[in-house]
Amino acid sequence: MNEIEQRIAELNKLLHEYGHAYYVLDQPVVLDSVYDQLLHELIALEEANPEFIFPDSPTQRVGGTVLEGFQKVTHATPMLSLSNAFNEEDLRDFDRKIRQAIGEDYSYVCELKIDGLAISLRYEDGVFIQGATRGDGYLGEDITANLKTIRAIPLRLTKPVTIEVRGEAYMPKKSFEKLNAARTEKGEELFANPRNAAAGSLRQLDPKIAASRQLSTFIYAIGGDGEAYGIDGHGEMLDYLAELGFPSNKERQACATIDDVLTFITKWTEERPNLPYEIDGIVIKVNRYAHQDELGFTAKSPRWAIAYKFPAEEVVTKLLDIELTVGRTGVITPTAILEPVLVAGSTVGRASLHNEDLIREKDIRITDTVIIRKAGDIIPQVVGVLVEQRQEDSVPYKMPTHCPACESELVRIEGDVALRCVNPLCQAQIAEGVKHFVSRNAMNIDGLGEKVVEQLLREGYIHDVADLYLLQVEQLIELDRMGQKSATNLVEALEKSKDNSLERLLFGLGIRHVGEKAAKILAEHYETMDALMEAEFEHLKEIHEIGDKMAESVVNYFANEKIQLLITRLKDVGINMTFKGKKVQVEVGTNPFAGKTIVLTGKLAQLTRNEAKAKIEELGGTVAGSVSKKTDLVIAGEDAGSKLTKAQSLSIEIWDENRLIEQLQQ
Ligand code: NAD
Repeated sequence: MNEIEQRIAELNKLLHEYGHAYYVLDQPVVLDSVYDQLLHELIALEEANPEFIFPDSPTQRVGGTVLEGFQKVTHATPMLSLSNAFNEEDLRDFDRKIRQAIGEDYSYVCELKIDGLAISLRYEDGVFIQGATRGDGYLGEDITANLKTIRAIPLRLTKPVTIEVRGEAYMPKKSFEKLNAARTEKGEELFANPRNAAAGSLRQLDPKIAASRQLSTFIYAIGGDGEAYGIDGHGEMLDYLAELGFPSNKERQACATIDDVLTFITKWTEERPNLPYEIDGIVIKVNRYAHQDELGFTAKSPRWAIAYKFPAEEVVTKLLDIELTVGRTGVITPTAILEPVLVAGSTVGRASLHNEDLIREKDIRITDTVIIRKAGDIIPQVVGVLVEQRQEDSVPYKMPTHCPACESELVRIEGDVALRCVNPLCQAQIAEGVKHFVSRNAMNIDGLGEKVVEQLLREGYIHDVADLYLLQVEQLIELDRMGQKSATNLVEALEKSKDNSLERLLFGLGIRHVGEKAAKILAEHYETMDALMEAEFEHLKEIHEIGDKMAESVVNYFANEKIQLLITRLKDVGINMTFKGKKVQVEVGTNPFAGKTIVLTGKLAQLTRNEAKAKIEELGGTVAGSVSKKTDLVIAGEDAGSKLTKAQSLSIEIWDENRLIEQLQQ
């Protein structure tokens, strides 16, 4: 077997295994996106090597199988699957093929792709007589008794027609949450998602179980010939179904062009979280039956329809290496170096592995096929390994015993998950500390990029942050890529930073647990560095928002003689050591920000995030990072995403940037 044939065989085996768990057991072992990605790989390999297409390949047939215990139902016309589109290019390709086959005069109907399971319902003279699953597309399971428990399914139609219809049975999000909550209480295994919960409920021999699960349905097609009912297209058929009394989804739209289809997709990608049921994409169908007939079918799906799938937030790729970086506080962070892969719309080549425990717990090994997740705007993470695809000669990953930068022995402080380099002279730590000190939200010194900082340390021009203030233009122009102008600018920027208010210096020093906000609280409270250095644990703790951990960290930091020396040197070079801001004493209710928790999301055009944040805080508001029930107001800039959607679902007040600016100017 050559390499390609071997991979095709391997993919067949894996997809059969995953398919069985999903379709037969209703207990998927991997996410849909992972299954789809592997299926896609197989489709591409088979297209290039048709001699290796196995007759039972998952690309050649509709997914499910029929369970024992149910009567079998032969479908009058096969219940097929849909081919998939994952991006704009796939959709334009689909559109091009249609135009080539039937010319210019056609249109589409777009519908939400409900994430449930396909069902078929037969009515005779307007009375419901039989309901079935899709099964393998030709043969389904008779689940009439279970379907009768779904209230949305009419037992009698408004007209005495004989008809077979098809649709999706699904579990609303609320029912799913309730079901899993009850299962947690009883210590039972949880359902992975509403789709599997719905399938599991309908494939129970006891209809009482289905009845207790609060399922629902949308009907979206007539099985067989729609023209027999005097209808000439899909849109008209959906109206007819509603007229007969079927639940048909109202969020559908006729689209004249593929561009209109793309607009519909963009809209629902945003609005999807607000729906009371899960959707996993958009179904696009050519409207007119005459056109559908002309286009026909493949063995697995119609050529006149396609399912656009929303971008996957989880995909699989190969772990090429694990890189270790030494942070400012000596923490060693492992980062996964990945074979670049598209996740939720952007290419990812690195992902955080957090710490040694996570690597050990998930047994993540170099060369493994790993699952990457990027949900919303969060940095990508490795969430698991496909152990079935592991190379035989792979070995468990071992964290190093010595620092990758300075080679001193690493330690693990009790109760801490991180491995640390505790050598105070470790160059990597000092470099990170200096980078933090000069960063925008700390001392805000322009012109001191990563490369310059590393070179200054390497050349011995600086040993700590105080040395920065002794740098001369003549010295700086010796550095790589540093001209007279940039050297002069840098010295000026350093000079200017000496006037910063105390909180910037405090944040820049990188005291453990003291972030930007805490630095501001401390500076405002103590007003001078000297006062803060003398502050006692008990006194610090009395300040609202300063907890034990932070108070202890501040006391320990300033008790260190080396730090005291550093502060003296910083004073000697002329750095301001006092709080210069206004004391915020805004009465609640005097402006729309005072006492409110506010979240900024999306791109702001007229202010930077930091400027907006500073202004809001000046007026007594608190700026938080995520939306919750406690949020009072959300400022949504351009392209705001999941935070905005969440705010809408919680009915939180939302302003655009113009409104923010208007209010700030009052
Ligand atoms: P599909 O999900 O690609 O699409 C076809 C189905 O969409 C139809 O059969 C119908 O049930 C449904 N649908 C929903 N709304 C519709 C509408 N408005 N109009 C028409 N159809 C609509 O195909 P599939 O063959 O049912 O299943 C494949 C799916 O199962 C994929 O999403 C795949 O990821 C998943 N799967 C997952 C695993 C796993 O291990 N996680 C294994 C196998 C399959």
